[in-house]
Amino acid sequence: MPKDYLKGVADAYDVVVVGSGLGGLTAANILAREGLSVLLLEQHYKLGGMATWFKRPGGHIFDISLHGFPYGMVKSCRRYWTPEIADSIVQLHGVRFDNPMFSLTTTFNRNDFTKLLTTDFGIEKQTVDQFFDTARNMNFYDDQSLTTRELFDRFFPGREDVVRLLMEPITYANGSTLEDPALTYGIVFSNFMSKGVFVFQGGTDKLIKAMEKEMKGNGVDIRINCDVKKINVSKDGIQSIDVNGRTIRTKAVVSNANLRATIFNLIGKDCFDADFVEEAEAVRLNNSSTQVYMALHPEDSIPRETGDLLFCSTADRFQTDLLLSRDITSRTFSFYYPDTRPDKKERTFIVSSTNANFEDWTGMDKAAYDASKEDLIQTTLDSLEKYVPNCRERITHAEVATPITFRHYTQHINGASFGTKFEGLGVSRALPQQIPGLYHAGSCGIIMSGWLGTINYGVIVANDVINHLSSVANTSPIATE
Ligand SMILES: Cc1cc2nc3c(=O)[nH]c(=O)nc-3n(C[C@H](O)[C@H](O)[C@H](O)COP(=O)(O)OP(=O)(O)OC[C@H]3O[C@@H](n4cnc5c(N)ncnc54)[C@H](O)[C@@H]3O)c2cc1C
Repeated sequence: MPKDYLKGVADAYDVVVVGSGLGGLTAANILAREGLSVLLLEQHYKLGGMATWFKRPGGHIFDISLHGFPYGMVKSCRRYWTPEIADSIVQLHGVRFDNPMFSLTTTFNRNDFTKLLTTDFGIEKQTVDQFFDTARNMNFYDDQSLTTRELFDRFFPGREDVVRLLMEPITYANGSTLEDPALTYGIVFSNFMSKGVFVFQGGTDKLIKAMEKEMKGNGVDIRINCDVKKINVSKDGIQSIDVNGRTIRTKAVVSNANLRATIFNLIGKDCFDADFVEEAEAVRLNNSSTQVYMALHPEDSIPRETGDLLFCSTADRFQTDLLLSRDITSRTFSFYYPDTRPDKKERTFIVSSTNANFEDWTGMDKAAYDASKEDLIQTTLDSLEKYVPNCRERITHAEVATPITFRHYTQHINGASFGTKFEGLGVSRALPQQIPGLYHAGSCGIIMSGWLGTINYGVIVANDVINHLSSVANTSPIATE
């Protein structure tokens, strides 16, 4: 008989959280801490969504999205998770750029960038200060018609090298482009510039296990291998969800699944106003990614000066479409030294990440797909050779993830790495006005993506749910018979 992953589950909960990405996990934890009964359902056999890892024989552990996040994670983790999680966050000191326009190493914060821009790039200090202040003062309620390109043109006209320095890491970090509203750049860039780039020491596995322990302590009912097929609604709002052949009643749902999948697949467009459906249909997905995971021979090591994060490119100019092209010219290498997991076997890993279009990886037969993956490994090794000499002989394991892989493990439409484009945020926020009790907390709007963005979005949405539940006529929690 197949295993019953819902064994012992109650018939009803105050809130059901669909999906265990960082947004879903954070919302579930806060809601349970508030004393609400919370059921967390994850379709995969592991919690974490894109915040995940995998193991291979030989002591290899690869992180998928642990490359860097802003310092704000410390505060968010301390307040909404645990001091232990917050205390494990450490800074990456070596962020490198290497492209035909410039090669440099930086700590990726305002002081160092000001120094670089004024000395190496010859920009007036006053202009640099004004640029930083403008970016820092941007907020969601600002005029959204100014594009990032126009922002750069205002401060650094004709300086493609400066644009590249300022933009390339952010495009990599959240898929935003020069054509997106400037505030999607300003907010994320300023978050990083406050103190630099940080990671979680101990690896994603340690983080997610710590989060699971905390959630269990707060009473979250956590179920994996539970693919929610339907969110049932009536004119009064959320009624129940269908999962693994069962219907579970609830007053509120927080969907951490892709925004479009939530609206069109889990609910169905007939349940929404026509205007809203039109707006939701216009929401663009963000791009996907490819990654190459490489393990150095266990006895081997690379010097620390190689850097932690390396934005390398052979393209003459910075162009968003080039960053997405299957003809890869730009890669971000993450170097994981043995102190990434101080209590595990000493290992060095390298992960190469590239933004990618789903269409470049779909519609192939297996042989062509496998050949494309092998080509990606070989071209990545060609590129890595400059930074890790003789890498072909030194690397003992290499494998690839493509947009198809990301779609497979997370069910994100087209394997979108960062949810939706900016217009998704308004649609996500408007869900409860369409269906009382329906919320979405997952990567969207470029601002609410990445580790920090999705954790903070989970916090915002959890507070909305708490307010909603305390304001509905029957405020007492649903009986969990
Ligand atoms: C290659 C790559 C590198 C990245 N690097 C970084 C980085 O360095 N720094 C950074 O800050 N961010 C990075 N990100 C982005 C970051 O990982 C994501 O923005 C963030 O983890 C997304 O969290 P989320 O809450 O939106 O949920 P997701 O991680 O998208 O998870 C959604 C969850 O919902 C589950 N689900 C979906 N449908 C259902 C259903 N019907 N029933 C049950 N469960 C369901 C999925 O299985 C999944 O677990 C990277 C992403 C990728 C892909």
